[in-house]
Amino acid sequence: MTANVPLIVRVLASSVSVANRAGKIVRDVMSKGELGIVEKGKDDYQTEADRSAQRCIVASLAAQYPKVNIIGEEDQPDNETGLFATLHPQPGTWKVIDGDIASDLIISDADKEILGLDCPIHLQGVKEEDIVVWVDPLDGTSEYTQGFLEHVTVLIGISVNEKPVAGVIHQPYYKTMLGGEKIIGRTIWGLQEVGVGGFTPAPPPDSLIITTTRSHSNPLVEKALQVMNAAQVLRVGGAGYKVLQLLEGKASIYVFASSGCKKWDTCAPEAVLTAAGGKLTDILGDFYKYGGGESKPNKTGVLAAVNGELHNYALKRIPQELKDALANK
Ligand code: AMP
Ligand code: MG
Ligand code: MG
Repeated sequence: MTANVPLIVRVLASSVSVANRAGKIVRDVMSKGELGIVEKGKDDYQTEADRSAQRCIVASLAAQYPKVNIIGEEDQPDNETGLFATLHPQPGTWKVIDGDIASDLIISDADKEILGLDCPIHLQGVKEEDIVVWVDPLDGTSEYTQGFLEHVTVLIGISVNEKPVAGVIHQPYYKTMLGGEKIIGRTIWGLQEVGVGGFTPAPPPDSLIITTTRSHSNPLVEKALQVMNAAQVLRVGGAGYKVLQLLEGKASIYVFASSGCKKWDTCAPEAVLTAAGGKLTDILGDFYKYGGGESKPNKTGVLAAVNGELHNYALKRIPQELKDALANK
């Protein structure tokens, strides 16, 4: 049955299933209490949850789609664990080496609802070689280690021709009641020209509410917030969670005038937000490109809004000298 489903839809369906499994890994590591924190750089941490969730996602997708270029945040083998070196012997053609990954971490399920989606015509002929997948196995690591668990997400962004066309934002600690049963975790998805699912979209708030970083602020970040003339500024962790706030009507604009975010932070959120009618660019108003050869940092910041009008409002408010300061950093 799945052989007839276009590749891009299959990759999205697999990504939804593997994000659910990765979310369980994130919860399991926390409940065991051994986080294994490694400092990758200033204000930049990795835990056992980041490492295991990435292994699960990359190994599962690589096993099914060996020619897809998968780029994960935790690819760089760190000195202590050397974890990911064996996963990509040749860039662009992933190969999982037997025995490296516990078999229960390799997921071959594909979400049935997603498999039933209609694929946009222009994506029907996409081949594995055309796809770059950007993986942030745990977005909001600072918040994860500090107990702000609702801010944590698992991000899988799927790009074709440098554009994010589909994405998954999984929230491992979201809690809700359904038919008297407590459900933990939810998975939000988006596919270009098809739409979004996994949550109930809500209109933007009546007053201007901005969402921004909780743990990576600096004077430029604050300056960009001041000029927005917002009724309220929410400070929360993770690019995924901030875009969820936009999607659910908790905030209308996400402003981050800093070079700290990377392509794996914005690929999935941009894909989902765009599929819902929103827009994500840098602070200059330019779109990021998600090809395999792109540099990882989103050097010129992040500006996202629930619609083009609010995006334009924010873009016009940012002074040229602030844009120049980021562009010339
Ligand atoms: P935040 O909004 O601060 O939670 O950041 C969103 C994403 O970008 C998270 O994955 C952060 O780890 C990353 N990020 C933002 N700023 C920095 C920074 N200065 N150093 C390292 N990572 C950052
Ligand atoms: Mg991140
Ligand atoms: Mg991360």
